[in-house]
Amino acid sequence: MGREEGGVVIFGAKEASKIVEELGASFSAGKTRTYEWRRSQLKSLLKVAKEHEQEIIDALSGDLSKPEFEAYVQEIAMLKNSCKLALKELKHWMAPEKVKTSLTTFPSSAEIVYEPLGVVLVISAWNYPFLLSLDPVVGAIAAGNAVVLKPSEIAPASSKLLAKLLGEYMDTSSIRVVEGAVEETSALLEQKWDKICYTGNARVGRIVMAAAAKHLTPVLLELGGKSPVIVDSGINLQVTTRRIIAGKWGCNNGQACISPDYIITTKDFAPKLVDSLKLELEKCYGKSPLESKDLSRIVNSNHWNRLKKLLDDERVSGKIVHGGEVEETKLRIAPTILLDVPRDSLIMNEEIFGPLLPIITVEKLEESFDIINSGTKPLAAYLFTDDKKLKQLFVKNVSAGGLVINDTTIHLAVHTLPFGGVGESGIGAYHGKFSFDAFSHKKAVVYRSFAGDASIRYAPYTKGKLRL
Ligand code: NAD
Repeated sequence: MGREEGGVVIFGAKEASKIVEELGASFSAGKTRTYEWRRSQLKSLLKVAKEHEQEIIDALSGDLSKPEFEAYVQEIAMLKNSCKLALKELKHWMAPEKVKTSLTTFPSSAEIVYEPLGVVLVISAWNYPFLLSLDPVVGAIAAGNAVVLKPSEIAPASSKLLAKLLGEYMDTSSIRVVEGAVEETSALLEQKWDKICYTGNARVGRIVMAAAAKHLTPVLLELGGKSPVIVDSGINLQVTTRRIIAGKWGCNNGQACISPDYIITTKDFAPKLVDSLKLELEKCYGKSPLESKDLSRIVNSNHWNRLKKLLDDERVSGKIVHGGEVEETKLRIAPTILLDVPRDSLIMNEEIFGPLLPIITVEKLEESFDIINSGTKPLAAYLFTDDKKLKQLFVKNVSAGGLVINDTTIHLAVHTLPFGGVGESGIGAYHGKFSFDAFSHKKAVVYRSFAGDASIRYAPYTKGKLRL
């Protein structure tokens, strides 16, 4: 894909521009707009997931030691479901939507026509490298766009496999994969795209948005944040604990954008919750969790060191009530719980994105809302309670990309809900029909006939007309 200079393959602005030109020509020729093309490409993507399960599982194991169960359920099956839904609903999604008109325009009819945007860029992250790369691609194809996918260099095995499989299965005149890191992504970002979908951290989100602004390109930014879990006392403790564990350590060992980041509970209840977490964690991952095959490792040494620094912060020393074991050579960190960490500690001031779970305590749970709202808006927020009033207050007072009551992370699997952030956790949303919408322009179309031509709208604007 790149040019060779002194034995080094270079992918720069020249190569990026050539790709955009080629895909632009294919889009302009109308190829990607047809129902048949969209259907055939969605089928091919489904085939990628069906026929290469083991290779995908192996790549995820290489990049993250991701357990096979998580690789299958959280990436492969989710992608298959997205493809199947898009295939089932495609005709319906593509159909113009009739809407009512008003008396002012009588007689007339109107409709919303869903138009593809053009050539779109999808930049994805390393933590769910298959799903986060291909799920937006499903939406982009369903909406009739040409697509360039740039997977994360931090998950190299997955990136390589994506490039290989999409090259083999997809129509490369309209769908391409560009592998690479900052240099390659920067070259891509210099180009004029019709939409950029970026998944990753907010710092790079700002870089993406600044590059997009130069061309007035719209963006879909899927970012992160500190997703809190409020735990009330009158709950089914075992179910609560298991669902927190599933959303935290059962999602890539906490390296997931909607994993619980921290817990807020009352002072009185915290010891019971800690005991239950310890008990259930041991049932899931045994007495030596660093050896567990059911926990992903930390993706690389940069992230391992970042997490270790959070643990080494002197403000949290003595606060570890469970776990804390680390193994640098294998990039492992055990599920770790910290109780009563100070609010000014490092761990409470950045997204953790790993297996550490701080608990902060309050006198009354209602205080949680102010704590959450004092930070940037999270991507998700969770509440465990049986108290109807508290549920209502939570929904009313907490602003986050999504909320779940009495579970964690499962809103991701409800395809009738938009998935995205608010404020610092993102701009726009996708999943299900929202993915189709995210990559479509809703064109407003009004139909009129020559009948009923009222002279009132035309000059001269006499006083009589004004009073009418
Ligand atoms: P990452 O390091 O893989 O970066 C994401 C993408 O940005 C990569 O493709 C990378 O090549 C590119 N990139 C990195 N630096 C760049 C630069 N200077 N210029 C241009 N492109 C650049 O992933 P990450 O950021 O470590 O991902 C973790 C973050 O993503 C967390 O904050 C997490 O919450 C968030 N996330 C959000 C979602 C979501 O759906 N909302 C999903 C997963 C992760």
